[in-house]
Amino acid sequence: MQVEISGQKLELHQGDITLQEVDAIVNAANSRLAGGGGVDGAIHRRGGQSIMAETDAKYPDGCPTGSAVISGAGKLPAKYVIHAVGPVWSGGSRGEAELLAGAYRRCLELAVEHDCRGIALPALSTGAYRYPIDQAARAALSVAIEFLEAHGKPELVRFVLFDAGTYGAFAAALEELTA
Ligand code: ADP
Repeated sequence: MQVEISGQKLELHQGDITLQEVDAIVNAANSRLAGGGGVDGAIHRRGGQSIMAETDAKYPDGCPTGSAVISGAGKLPAKYVIHAVGPVWSGGSRGEAELLAGAYRRCLELAVEHDCRGIALPALSTGAYRYPIDQAARAALSVAIEFLEAHGKPELVRFVLFDAGTYGAFAAALEELTA
């Protein structure tokens, strides 16, 4: 599924984020940038050790929840990995929505600052961090739409959703937000 926002592409794609041939892919990292399962495990496995070596050296204090940091992408087809730290879901009254939006916003800012034409993002916080998928989809897409409307770039924002259920939730949210 694809829509145009301010002349730029906003896409939904079911697949594996590590395979995306775009300038930047986003990792669902933890605040220590310590490595984990899910998206993070797949990125470090395919990308090789240089990614962790770089984040250890550049960001010894990790990255706060609700923000993101950038590194090279090792052996992956992308140029950059943006390590975003979404919140752990704990009921919704601990600022989760603002933190999730903040993490996505910082990813888009970093991509533009590094002249990335395309960025691929996963459904942050919806795996191990248990954020309810419908709310996460609306939050993610709202930030992307607002960012594209405000900045007119990057040229391509692609959400890469691993399974059909997550894709379906994003598709429903995108229809609702662009109706
Ligand atoms: P978090 O800890 O932020 O919840 P996870 O990596 O556990 O992050 O999961 C985030 C989302 O990414 C989940 O919807 C999960 O199904 C999905 N996912 C897992 N592996 C991949 C992958 N290789 N490409 C894209 N999405 C993935």
